[in-house]
Amino acid sequence: SSPESPVSPYACQRRTTIENKNKIFTDALEVLVERYEQSEIEGPCVAFRRAASVLKSLSWSIESVRSIEGLPYVGDSSRTVIQEILQYGRSFEVERILADERYQTLKLFMSVFGVGPKTADKWYRQGLRSLSQILAHPDIQLNRMQQNGFLHHSDLSRGVRADEARAVEALIVETVQSVAPDAVVTLSGGFRRYRSMFGHDVDFIVTTAEAGGESLLLPLIMERLQEQGLLLFQAYNPSTFDLQKVPCRRYEAMDFFAKCFLILKLEGSRVQGGVQGDRGWRAVRVDLVAPPIEHFAFTQLGWTGSRQFERDLRRFARTERNMILDNHALYDKTKNQFLAALTEKDIFAHLGLEYMEPWHRNA
Ligand code: ATP
Ligand code: MN
Ligand code: MN
Repeated sequence: SSPESPVSPYACQRRTTIENKNKIFTDALEVLVERYEQSEIEGPCVAFRRAASVLKSLSWSIESVRSIEGLPYVGDSSRTVIQEILQYGRSFEVERILADERYQTLKLFMSVFGVGPKTADKWYRQGLRSLSQILAHPDIQLNRMQQNGFLHHSDLSRGVRADEARAVEALIVETVQSVAPDAVVTLSGGFRRYRSMFGHDVDFIVTTAEAGGESLLLPLIMERLQEQGLLLFQAYNPSTFDLQKVPCRRYEAMDFFAKCFLILKLEGSRVQGGVQGDRGWRAVRVDLVAPPIEHFAFTQLGWTGSRQFERDLRRFARTERNMILDNHALYDKTKNQFLAALTEKDIFAHLGLEYMEPWHRNA
């Protein structure tokens, strides 16, 4: 497209690859997103996220403020940031945030697995400024997830490379084959979007054609990983799925299927070129979700992301189609019925959307 062709206000109607021609601008806007996420201030957070996402989809680089006229969601605040960068090479507002002690400290605390904005802010208000201060503080009670987050912080904050993700995939496939030969493993999340470089974890969907069989999968997989000495941490949520409770706007962003959040030991021998460090292994965050097979397509669409792509898909369904989409199902409020889908393509078709390949969903 050219600067003149119209840009959709929905990420699900824009092809967004990882090739971002406006990184200098979107990086700046994402600092603002992060700053408002830390304080859980919804309005500006949504506005800057949408603006950044629109800029990521452009096939051209912004070279003047005139070229961004008419772009959806690029409002006054975003325009100011863009203008400053065009004029001075940097945004003063963003630089102020980056230098801010609270921003830096909350970012550090939230980089620990299991620590969200509320906990990070509480620690900050207690005067804590570093991870070692938290660990040394006698009154701070860490939950099991946070304890493991601190224990494996240096590995987990380094992110997962694409070759490490492939090695994790091979391990998960082997493990599933040995405990449930009929089950199917599908890579999901950022690595399915071909987001190269690295991700914060590796996400998988596991399911089986046998009715109800999916409920046994995750416990069996975790048991097998444990036997091999590869399970460093697990938090398991059994399914609380109930078709009566969905679809519902309140639950749009989460799901009720059985899932587990893991930290696995990835041995260097599994990765070509090995892993960093001299221990011969590294810790990796892995998420598994196990939907019943008839809900697989919805889970696959929901877990492939990006988060912004998902938000805009649901918003498009609601606003443009009077439908409710979540990770379980698609409900047509006009016809008062669920719309079944075997594949992601079926869901796009129900929504009257052109199919988007996973690598175009990096919104
Ligand atoms: P990265 O892992 O590198 O940060 P990602 O896109 O893979 O990038 P994740 O946080 O792993 O991000 O999430 C992948 C997808 O799974 C997202 O689209 C998100 O909506 C979905 N997801 C993640 N956690 C849950 C959850 N607890 N319940 C439902 N959906 C989830
Ligand atoms: Mn992920
Ligand atoms: Mn994940």
